[in-house]
Amino acid sequence: QAKDAGRGCFAYFSEDLTIAARERIALETRLRRAIEQQDLCIFFQPQVDIAGGRIVGAEVLVRWQDPVDGLIPPLRFIPIAEETGLILEIGEWVLRETCRQGRQWLDAGLPPLTLAVNVSPYQFRRGDICALVTTVLAETGFPPTLLELEITESGLMENQENATAILNSLREQGVRFAIDDFGTGYSSLAYLKHFPLDVLKIDKSFIDDIPFHQDDMEIAATIVAMGHILGFKVLAEGVETAAQLAFLQEKGCDMYQGYIKSKPLVASEFAELLRHQQHASGDTETRNC
Ligand code: C2E
Ligand code: MG
Ligand code: MG
Ligand code: MG
Repeated sequence: QAKDAGRGCFAYFSEDLTIAARERIALETRLRRAIEQQDLCIFFQPQVDIAGGRIVGAEVLVRWQDPVDGLIPPLRFIPIAEETGLILEIGEWVLRETCRQGRQWLDAGLPPLTLAVNVSPYQFRRGDICALVTTVLAETGFPPTLLELEITESGLMENQENATAILNSLREQGVRFAIDDFGTGYSSLAYLKHFPLDVLKIDKSFIDDIPFHQDDMEIAATIVAMGHILGFKVLAEGVETAAQLAFLQEKGCDMYQGYIKSKPLVASEFAELLRHQQHASGDTETRNC
Protein backbone atom coordinates (compact mmCIF):
# COMPACT_ATOMS: atom_id res chain seq x y z
CA GLN A 1 0.00 0.00 0.00
CA ALA A 2 2.79 2.36 0.94
CA LYS A 3 4.44 1.47 -2.33
CA ASP A 4 1.29 2.37 -4.20
CA ALA A 5 1.04 5.66 -2.42
CA GLY A 6 4.70 6.28 -3.19
CA ARG A 7 4.18 5.51 -6.80
CA GLY A 8 1.15 7.75 -6.83
CA CYS A 9 3.18 10.58 -5.36
CA PHE A 10 5.93 10.05 -7.88
CA ALA A 11 3.48 10.17 -10.74
CA TYR A 12 1.89 13.29 -9.30
CA PHE A 13 5.19 15.12 -8.83
CA SER A 14 6.62 14.14 -12.17
CA GLU A 15 3.51 15.34 -13.95
CA ASP A 16 3.76 18.53 -11.95
CA LEU A 17 7.36 19.01 -12.96
CA THR A 18 6.52 18.44 -16.57
CA ILE A 19 3.92 21.15 -16.43
CA ALA A 20 6.37 23.50 -14.69
CA ALA A 21 9.09 22.69 -17.21
CA ARG A 22 6.70 23.24 -20.10
CA GLU A 23 5.60 26.57 -18.67
CA ARG A 24 9.21 27.59 -18.25
CA ILE A 25 10.11 26.78 -21.82
CA ALA A 26 7.01 28.60 -23.04
CA LEU A 27 7.92 31.61 -20.94
CA GLU A 28 11.49 31.57 -22.25
CA THR A 29 10.25 31.47 -25.84
CA ARG A 30 7.83 34.32 -25.17
CA LEU A 31 10.54 36.32 -23.42
CA ARG A 32 12.86 35.90 -26.40
CA ARG A 33 10.11 37.21 -28.65
CA ALA A 34 9.34 40.06 -26.25
CA ILE A 35 12.96 41.21 -26.43
CA GLU A 36 12.89 41.13 -30.24
CA GLN A 37 9.55 42.91 -30.45
CA GLN A 38 10.59 45.56 -27.94
CA ASP A 39 7.84 44.61 -25.50
CA LEU A 40 10.03 45.50 -22.54
CA CYS A 41 9.73 48.89 -20.90
CA ILE A 42 11.35 50.74 -18.03
CA PHE A 43 9.82 52.47 -15.04
CA PHE A 44 11.49 55.07 -12.83
CA GLN A 45 11.16 55.14 -9.05
CA PRO A 46 12.18 58.45 -7.47
CA GLN A 47 15.08 58.45 -5.02
CA VAL A 48 14.80 61.24 -2.49
CA ASP A 49 17.33 63.15 -0.40
CA ILE A 50 15.98 62.76 3.14
CA ALA A 51 17.28 66.06 4.53
CA GLY A 52 16.02 68.26 1.69
CA GLY A 53 13.07 66.15 0.57
CA ARG A 54 14.03 66.54 -3.08
CA ILE A 55 14.21 63.92 -5.80
CA VAL A 56 17.88 63.39 -6.61
CA GLY A 57 17.63 60.32 -8.80
CA ALA A 58 15.63 57.31 -9.85
CA GLU A 59 15.99 53.56 -9.87
CA VAL A 60 15.25 52.07 -13.25
CA LEU A 61 13.01 48.99 -13.09
CA VAL A 62 12.22 46.81 -16.08
CA ARG A 63 8.76 45.43 -16.89
CA TRP A 64 7.43 43.26 -19.66
CA GLN A 65 4.41 44.71 -21.41
CA ASP A 66 2.72 41.65 -22.85
CA PRO A 67 -0.04 42.28 -25.42
CA VAL A 68 -2.21 39.60 -23.77
CA ASP A 69 -1.11 39.32 -20.15
CA GLY A 70 -0.43 43.01 -19.55
CA LEU A 71 2.40 44.25 -17.36
CA ILE A 72 4.56 41.38 -16.08
CA PRO A 73 6.75 42.21 -13.04
CA PRO A 74 10.51 41.54 -13.17
CA LEU A 75 10.48 38.86 -10.50
CA ARG A 76 8.43 36.68 -12.89
CA PHE A 77 10.99 36.77 -15.69
CA ILE A 78 14.39 38.02 -14.44
CA PRO A 79 15.21 34.67 -12.74
CA ILE A 80 14.51 32.80 -16.00
CA ALA A 81 16.44 35.42 -17.94
CA GLU A 82 19.39 34.80 -15.62
CA GLU A 83 19.22 31.02 -16.05
CA THR A 84 19.04 31.22 -19.82
CA GLY A 85 21.49 34.06 -20.34
CA LEU A 86 18.78 36.25 -21.86
CA ILE A 87 19.61 38.70 -19.06
CA LEU A 88 22.57 39.88 -21.15
CA GLU A 89 20.25 41.16 -23.86
CA ILE A 90 17.74 42.53 -21.37
CA GLY A 91 20.48 44.24 -19.36
CA GLU A 92 21.96 45.83 -22.46
CA TRP A 93 18.56 47.06 -23.58
CA VAL A 94 17.73 48.52 -20.15
CA LEU A 95 21.08 50.29 -19.96
CA ARG A 96 20.80 51.79 -23.46
CA GLU A 97 17.18 52.83 -22.96
CA THR A 98 18.05 54.43 -19.60
CA CYS A 99 20.95 56.45 -21.01
CA ARG A 100 18.92 57.46 -24.07
CA GLN A 101 16.03 58.65 -21.88
CA GLY A 102 18.40 60.36 -19.43
CA ARG A 103 20.11 62.25 -22.26
CA GLN A 104 16.74 63.32 -23.65
CA TRP A 105 15.67 64.69 -20.25
CA LEU A 106 18.90 66.70 -19.96
CA ASP A 107 18.36 68.09 -23.47
CA ALA A 108 14.81 69.03 -22.47
CA GLY A 109 16.19 71.09 -19.58
CA LEU A 110 15.34 68.79 -16.68
CA PRO A 111 17.78 68.94 -13.76
CA PRO A 112 20.61 66.38 -13.80
CA LEU A 113 19.66 63.26 -11.85
CA THR A 114 21.33 59.98 -11.06
CA LEU A 115 19.78 57.02 -12.86
CA ALA A 116 20.40 53.71 -11.12
CA VAL A 117 20.35 50.56 -13.25
CA ASN A 118 20.21 47.04 -11.80
CA VAL A 119 23.02 44.78 -12.99
CA SER A 120 22.60 41.05 -12.40
CA PRO A 121 25.46 38.84 -11.18
CA TYR A 122 25.32 37.02 -14.52
CA GLN A 123 26.12 40.24 -16.40
CA PHE A 124 28.94 40.91 -14.00
CA ARG A 125 30.33 37.43 -14.49
CA ARG A 126 29.75 36.74 -18.15
CA GLY A 127 29.16 39.96 -19.96
CA ASP A 128 31.85 42.44 -20.71
CA ILE A 129 30.12 45.01 -18.57
CA CYS A 130 32.97 47.55 -18.77
CA ALA A 131 32.97 47.62 -22.55
CA LEU A 132 29.19 47.68 -22.69
CA VAL A 133 28.83 50.62 -20.30
CA THR A 134 31.61 52.58 -22.00
CA THR A 135 30.06 52.02 -25.44
CA VAL A 136 26.53 52.91 -24.38
CA LEU A 137 27.67 56.08 -22.58
CA ALA A 138 29.61 57.20 -25.66
CA GLU A 139 26.76 56.30 -27.99
CA THR A 140 24.07 58.15 -26.05
CA GLY A 141 26.10 61.03 -24.64
CA PHE A 142 24.71 60.41 -21.15
CA PRO A 143 27.18 61.71 -18.52
CA PRO A 144 28.95 58.81 -16.73
CA THR A 145 28.68 60.70 -13.42
CA LEU A 146 24.89 60.42 -13.59
CA LEU A 147 24.92 56.65 -14.06
CA GLU A 148 24.79 54.37 -11.03
CA LEU A 149 25.00 50.59 -11.26
CA GLU A 150 23.26 48.51 -8.59
CA ILE A 151 24.88 45.19 -7.82
CA THR A 152 24.06 42.67 -5.14
CA GLU A 153 26.32 41.27 -2.45
CA SER A 154 26.30 37.91 -4.22
CA GLY A 155 27.28 39.63 -7.46
CA LEU A 156 30.37 40.96 -5.70
CA MET A 157 31.20 37.75 -3.86
CA GLU A 158 30.89 35.50 -6.90
CA ASN A 159 33.33 37.67 -8.80
CA GLN A 160 35.77 38.86 -6.17
CA GLU A 161 38.82 39.13 -8.38
CA ASN A 162 36.98 40.60 -11.31
CA ALA A 163 34.77 42.85 -9.25
CA THR A 164 37.42 45.24 -8.00
CA ALA A 165 38.85 45.62 -11.48
CA ILE A 166 35.41 46.28 -12.99
CA LEU A 167 34.50 48.76 -10.26
CA ASN A 168 37.79 50.63 -10.51
CA SER A 169 37.74 50.84 -14.27
CA LEU A 170 34.18 52.21 -14.47
CA ARG A 171 34.58 54.49 -11.45
CA GLU A 172 37.54 56.11 -13.18
CA GLN A 173 35.04 57.26 -15.78
CA GLY A 174 32.78 58.62 -13.03
CA VAL A 175 30.21 55.80 -12.90
CA ARG A 176 28.85 55.18 -9.40
CA PHE A 177 28.12 51.86 -7.69
CA ALA A 178 25.45 50.87 -5.20
CA ILE A 179 25.04 47.66 -3.23
CA ASP A 180 21.43 46.54 -3.57
CA ASP A 181 19.34 44.71 -0.95
CA PHE A 182 22.09 45.09 1.64
CA GLY A 183 21.68 42.79 4.61
CA THR A 184 20.04 39.91 2.75
CA GLY A 185 23.24 38.29 1.49
CA TYR A 186 26.15 36.79 3.33
CA SER A 187 28.61 39.61 3.12
CA SER A 188 29.44 41.91 5.98
CA LEU A 189 30.19 45.59 6.16
CA ALA A 190 33.77 44.68 7.00
CA TYR A 191 33.96 42.78 3.72
CA LEU A 192 32.38 45.59 1.70
CA LYS A 193 34.99 48.09 2.81
CA HIS A 194 37.42 46.48 0.38
CA PHE A 195 35.30 47.52 -2.58
CA PRO A 196 35.14 51.01 -4.09
CA LEU A 197 31.41 51.65 -3.67
CA ASP A 198 29.32 54.77 -3.36
CA VAL A 199 25.92 53.79 -1.99
CA LEU A 200 24.58 51.13 0.37
CA LYS A 201 20.90 50.29 -0.10
CA ILE A 202 19.27 48.93 3.06
CA ASP A 203 16.94 46.12 2.05
CA LYS A 204 13.22 46.76 2.40
CA SER A 205 12.85 43.82 4.78
CA PHE A 206 14.64 45.82 7.50
CA ILE A 207 12.43 48.85 6.89
CA ASP A 208 9.04 47.10 6.80
CA ASP A 209 8.57 46.64 10.57
CA ILE A 210 9.90 50.00 11.71
CA PRO A 211 8.80 51.23 14.29
CA PHE A 212 7.38 47.95 15.64
CA HIS A 213 10.42 45.67 15.72
CA GLN A 214 13.28 46.84 17.89
CA ASP A 215 15.69 44.44 16.16
CA ASP A 216 15.07 45.83 12.70
CA MET A 217 15.38 49.38 13.99
CA GLU A 218 18.75 48.61 15.51
CA ILE A 219 19.93 46.85 12.36
CA ALA A 220 18.84 49.74 10.14
CA ALA A 221 20.48 52.30 12.44
CA THR A 222 23.68 50.24 12.53
CA ILE A 223 23.81 49.94 8.75
CA VAL A 224 23.47 53.73 8.47
CA ALA A 225 26.19 54.39 11.04
CA MET A 226 28.66 51.81 9.76
CA GLY A 227 27.94 52.67 6.13
CA HIS A 228 28.95 56.23 6.94
CA ILE A 229 32.12 55.11 8.72
CA LEU A 230 33.09 53.24 5.56
CA GLY A 231 32.41 56.34 3.47
CA PHE A 232 29.21 55.24 1.75
CA LYS A 233 25.96 57.11 1.30
CA VAL A 234 23.07 55.08 2.69
CA LEU A 235 19.69 54.72 0.98
CA ALA A 236 16.65 52.98 2.50
CA GLU A 237 14.46 50.90 0.17
CA GLY A 238 10.72 50.43 0.40
CA VAL A 239 9.80 53.30 2.71
CA GLU A 240 6.02 53.35 3.00
CA THR A 241 5.14 55.23 6.19
CA ALA A 242 5.84 58.57 7.84
CA ALA A 243 7.08 56.75 10.95
CA GLN A 244 9.70 54.87 8.92
CA LEU A 245 10.81 58.06 7.25
CA ALA A 246 11.04 59.95 10.56
CA PHE A 247 13.12 57.16 12.08
CA LEU A 248 15.52 57.09 9.10
CA GLN A 249 15.86 60.86 9.15
CA GLU A 250 16.67 60.80 12.85
CA LYS A 251 19.34 58.16 12.25
CA GLY A 252 20.96 60.25 9.54
CA CYS A 253 20.10 58.05 6.57
CA ASP A 254 20.94 59.98 3.40
CA MET A 255 18.28 58.94 0.89
CA TYR A 256 15.20 56.80 0.46
CA GLN A 257 12.86 55.43 -2.14
CA GLY A 258 9.43 53.96 -1.55
CA TYR A 259 5.72 54.20 -2.03
CA ILE A 260 5.46 57.04 0.51
CA LYS A 261 7.03 59.25 -2.17
CA SER A 262 6.07 57.39 -5.32
CA LYS A 263 5.69 54.01 -6.97
CA PRO A 264 7.78 53.37 -10.08
CA LEU A 265 6.51 55.68 -12.84
CA VAL A 266 6.60 55.65 -16.63
CA ALA A 267 9.03 58.17 -18.13
CA SER A 268 6.42 60.86 -18.86
CA GLU A 269 5.00 60.70 -15.32
CA PHE A 270 8.47 60.89 -13.80
CA ALA A 271 9.39 63.91 -15.94
CA GLU A 272 6.13 65.56 -14.89
CA LEU A 273 6.97 65.04 -11.22
CA LEU A 274 10.40 66.58 -11.78
CA ARG A 275 9.01 69.60 -13.57
CA HIS A 276 6.60 70.07 -10.72
CA GLN A 277 9.46 69.94 -8.21
CA GLN A 278 11.49 72.38 -10.33
CA HIS A 279 8.64 74.88 -10.44
CA ALA A 280 7.82 74.50 -6.78
CA SER A 281 11.42 75.29 -5.80
CA GLY A 282 11.57 78.09 -8.39
CA ASP A 283 8.58 79.69 -6.66
CA THR A 284 10.29 79.46 -3.28
CA GLU A 285 13.43 81.10 -4.62
CA THR A 286 11.41 83.94 -6.10
CA ARG A 287 9.66 84.46 -2.79
CA ASN A 288 12.96 84.46 -0.92
CA CYS A 289 14.44 87.15 -3.19
P1 C2E B 1 15.21 45.87 -6.37
O1 C2E B 1 16.33 46.28 -7.25
O2 C2E B 1 15.49 45.72 -4.90
O3 C2E B 1 14.06 46.96 -6.64
C1 C2E B 1 13.20 47.45 -5.66
C2 C2E B 1 11.85 46.79 -5.76
O4 C2E B 1 11.07 47.20 -4.63
C3 C2E B 1 11.05 47.17 -7.00
O5 C2E B 1 10.23 46.06 -7.37
C4 C2E B 1 10.16 48.29 -6.47
O6 C2E B 1 8.99 48.49 -7.22
C5 C2E B 1 9.85 47.78 -5.09
N1 C2E B 1 9.51 48.84 -4.17
C6 C2E B 1 10.05 50.07 -4.06
N2 C2E B 1 9.51 50.77 -3.07
C7 C2E B 1 8.56 49.98 -2.52
C8 C2E B 1 7.63 50.15 -1.45
O7 C2E B 1 7.57 51.18 -0.78
N3 C2E B 1 6.82 49.08 -1.16
C9 C2E B 1 6.86 47.92 -1.86
N4 C2E B 1 6.01 46.94 -1.52
N5 C2E B 1 7.72 47.72 -2.89
C10 C2E B 1 8.56 48.75 -3.20
P2 C2E B 1 10.20 45.54 -8.87
O8 C2E B 1 10.17 46.68 -9.82
O9 C2E B 1 9.10 44.53 -8.93
O10 C2E B 1 11.60 44.84 -9.03
C11 C2E B 1 11.91 43.68 -8.33
C12 C2E B 1 13.35 43.27 -8.55
O11 C2E B 1 13.57 42.90 -9.91
C13 C2E B 1 14.36 44.37 -8.29
O12 C2E B 1 14.57 44.49 -6.92
C14 C2E B 1 15.55 43.85 -9.06
O13 C2E B 1 16.23 42.87 -8.29
C15 C2E B 1 14.91 43.15 -10.23
N6 C2E B 1 14.98 44.03 -11.40
C16 C2E B 1 14.13 45.03 -11.77
N7 C2E B 1 14.57 45.62 -12.91
C17 C2E B 1 15.72 45.00 -13.27
C18 C2E B 1 16.66 45.16 -14.35
O14 C2E B 1 16.54 46.02 -15.22
N8 C2E B 1 17.74 44.31 -14.37
C19 C2E B 1 17.92 43.35 -13.39
N9 C2E B 1 19.01 42.57 -13.49
N10 C2E B 1 17.07 43.18 -12.37
C20 C2E B 1 15.98 44.00 -12.30
MG1 MG C 1 17.73 47.62 -7.29
MG1 MG D 1 16.86 46.73 -3.94
MG1 MG E 1 14.92 44.77 -2.68
